[in-house]
Amino acid sequence: MAECKSLACPVCTSPSGVVFLHRKRVAVHQNLVLRDSATARAYPRGELRMVRCSACGFAWNQSFDEGRVDYSAEYDNRQELSGRFQEHLEGRVTALVAALGGEAVRLAEVGCGKGGFLLRLLAAAPNWRAVGFDPTYQGPLEQLDGRLRFERSRFRQGALPFGAVLSRHVIEHVPDPLAFLIGLRAALGDGARLFLETPDLDWILDQAVPFDFFYEHCSLFDGNSLVRLLERAGFESTRPERVFGGQYLWVEARAVAIPAPAPALPEDPALAARTAGFTARLAAREAHWAQVLPSLAARGPVVLWGAGAKGATLAELMDPEQRWLRAAVDVNPAKQGRFLAGSGLPVIAPGDLCRLRPAAVVLPNANYFDEVGAELVRLGIDLKPLDPLALESSAP
Ligand SMILES: [Zn+2]
Repeated sequence: MAECKSLACPVCTSPSGVVFLHRKRVAVHQNLVLRDSATARAYPRGELRMVRCSACGFAWNQSFDEGRVDYSAEYDNRQELSGRFQEHLEGRVTALVAALGGEAVRLAEVGCGKGGFLLRLLAAAPNWRAVGFDPTYQGPLEQLDGRLRFERSRFRQGALPFGAVLSRHVIEHVPDPLAFLIGLRAALGDGARLFLETPDLDWILDQAVPFDFFYEHCSLFDGNSLVRLLERAGFESTRPERVFGGQYLWVEARAVAIPAPAPALPEDPALAARTAGFTARLAAREAHWAQVLPSLAARGPVVLWGAGAKGATLAELMDPEQRWLRAAVDVNPAKQGRFLAGSGLPVIAPGDLCRLRPAAVVLPNANYFDEVGAELVRLGIDLKPLDPLALESSAP
């Protein structure tokens, strides 16, 4: 643990940042799968040096280098193949429709991925029009008779103003989130609405989740720091809501005048103490895994469920020498037959488990416990998924 008093917080300008997590070599992408194991293992690495502001609670990777990440068309972070995640998306559609009412809205989604959410949203709001912006977008540039358009680029204002902007799971990838929001604010008229969804740093710290820190996520917020950032960028917001089992923050904001610069916030000793407590819990958890994993593997193949960011990070953390884990299971056909960046672990389909006969299935996201449990039953595999955050009580 090192103090870095010279570091000004990008959100509140306080100089009270503390390094709370340091990993020297982590794969720079988590949502990319590679065609062969050797290339996946040799994937470029970067340094994770997470600093938390002891005044507002924002956390950022001090060593992040934007030039090292490349959100190419190969990038695939879709989660909507899961029924549990579809429920979450339906909840966000309902929230947006409730917030914007029945008016004809012209909405932009910044970082729309493959466009799945916009299709779902416009099905529920027949008089809305939308433009999705994402450099990784693949597919037709117009859908729904022109009501939905896509641009393979970052956000830009067109001829007509947007009444609402939505950005889900983007701001945590942005190294200068204040500049990002100020850019959005400059393109919006007063009163325009902004909706953001991003991981909740408090949830990660409270649960002590080691695999929720990875290179792509260079900016992490708790509720306070997110509101503070929005204020500085000229948005008035409600208190962020915790959604998806508490893992994400959802915030609704409105464009207002950009305020005069506020003085730096004072340091909060309770916040600093809580962050230090997290660092200790994390070390204990990783040490425990190093003991438990070989004993699980002695009984038979151990697999992870989920080849997304949590799974890819857990594979690197839990089994850095690639000795114990056999594969990562994923329902996304585009990932099956490929290899996780960093660990080089092969990605297999759920049906492949019938042949593999695993001794343990480790599931890094407990939100999917029922869904994955039911799938294991369907496959005739008599196992309950193991939560890596509860291995202390469930492992031998
Ligand atoms: Zn701060």
